Amino acid sequence: MPRGISPRRPARTGRQDRVARTPSPAKSAPRQPRENKSDRVNKDARVGTAALGRPGSVTSASPKRRKQSGYNPLAADRVAEILKRLDQLYPDVTCALTHTTAWELLVATILSAQSTDVNVNRVTPELFRKYPTVEAFAALMPEHLEPDVRSTGFFRNKSKSVVGAAKKIVADFGGQVPMNMEDLLTLPGVARKTANVVLGTWFKMAEGVVVDTHVQRISRRLELTAQTEPQKIEQDLMKVIPREKWILFAHQIIWHGRKLCYARKPKCVDCLLETICHAGDKTWSTVEMHKNAKA
Ligand code: SF4
Repeated sequence: MPRGISPRRPARTGRQDRVARTPSPAKSAPRQPRENKSDRVNKDARVGTAALGRPGSVTSASPKRRKQSGYNPLAADRVAEILKRLDQLYPDVTCALTHTTAWELLVATILSAQSTDVNVNRVTPELFRKYPTVEAFAALMPEHLEPDVRSTGFFRNKSKSVVGAAKKIVADFGGQVPMNMEDLLTLPGVARKTANVVLGTWFKMAEGVVVDTHVQRISRRLELTAQTEPQKIEQDLMKVIPREKWILFAHQIIWHGRKLCYARKPKCVDCLLETICHAGDKTWSTVEMHKNAKA
């Protein structure tokens, strides 16, 4: 090496002079369409399994793992576990509507449509004091009843239903609330939900499952049904819930809907069912969430 010439030190950047710069793989690869935020969230939900971190987080697992899991939301052991945990949460619950006879329960249930039990319970004690028997209701015109039930909402229709049901019970059933589904369904304002409430709560007869707004929402979240119509939901529940549990199950789910599993912002962090619930609209999760399992 000639004197005075010292070898050049390699550039700190790692680039060498006169070396053609090759495009980085990131730049040479064809551009992928950008995911928006909700896509990312949904993808996470599809592949996530156990979230170990802060509330709301889900962690990823390979899709292969999920495929192999063979998850069946209607598996007998899963349904049994749901029922067991509901028993732990709500061991002795029953209908929250105040009543002392089958007729009073029928009236209270008709009035509870699109209203709350608390609201109905405010109205019914005075109502039943004023009209103590089914015959007293049967003697009314619907307009007479309207001011008394106004605060429960839809009061014109409800008044018509209550007075109409009273008249039919007096005329066709000797003043006694019928004890079977077929006859109950002939009463004005009575559909399967109301009939199931009366049969289950008063007569202790499991003819079906009460499907109200809470049962509708939570059964979907728990993947016990994918249906949206109450009658179809009831049919699905009757297939997976043992008959001896039909009455209690509905009461438990209704209480669960009032206490924790709200329509908006369910309190999943406090829920005993959390580890077996994959609802897509959970507010906190330690398990994979299924985007279609929602209210
Ligand atoms: S974990 Fe959340 S969504 Fe699931 S049942 Fe409990 S409260 Fe409802």
